[in-house]
Amino acid sequence: MNIILFGAPGAGKGTQSALLVERRNMRHISTGDLFRAHVKQGTRLGTEAKTYMDAGKLVPDEIVLGMVEDVLKELGSQSFILDGFPRTAPQAEALEAMLKNYDLSISKALFLEVPTERLMARLTGRRVCSSCGASYHIEAKPPQRAGICDLCGGIVDQRPDDQESVIRTRLEAYEKSTAPLKSYFTGKGQFVAVPGLGSTEDVYKQLVSHLD
Ligand code: ADP
Ligand code: ZN
Repeated sequence: MNIILFGAPGAGKGTQSALLVERRNMRHISTGDLFRAHVKQGTRLGTEAKTYMDAGKLVPDEIVLGMVEDVLKELGSQSFILDGFPRTAPQAEALEAMLKNYDLSISKALFLEVPTERLMARLTGRRVCSSCGASYHIEAKPPQRAGICDLCGGIVDQRPDDQESVIRTRLEAYEKSTAPLKSYFTGKGQFVAVPGLGSTEDVYKQLVSHLD
């Protein structure tokens, strides 16, 4: 079963995706991660995207769509999670066309619901392993040794777009462009809201209850 996982920045999409990958062998397709990989490798696409990402703005649809299509066209039969895509109405429409083209389908669009006032603390406190991408939080889930990843020993650092001023822009972009997709997915009969507060395990249980 293929799904879209969406919600505000800081809602926990990456954390829940990591569990779905580990426990249900799903393939995680995160446009944010794909862009960060391009930035790290110094590709042209990465250079183009970085300006927008650092400012907390959405990368233009045409750049995102080409990158996603490259992934979709080489997918095998493994179930996948789309995380961070689609993020705008034109992206959602383009996705439909691509799915048709590659004979793929999405069963559900699971919306991780977290009250806006909780998002800032989650994001400003977030730290990420620069090698493996594992996610930490300075209060809720600090690494055992400060600044060092528990999983791979990599350097745990703050994402450049996790500073307060940039987070504000990201939250605005979310409200303006992504939140309206709730009614879009409802119209497609795919929308499911999942409470995103509580422990990681609680949220996971609720999420997977919609997968079988
Ligand atoms: P978050 O959901 O926490 O904001 P992501 O890692 O999903 O973080 O995205 C980081 C940045 O990458 C976004 O702020 C944006 O600049 C860019 N990005 C990721 N996915 C998309 C997308 N589908 N459309 C446009 N920009 C995107
Ligand atoms: Zn790591």
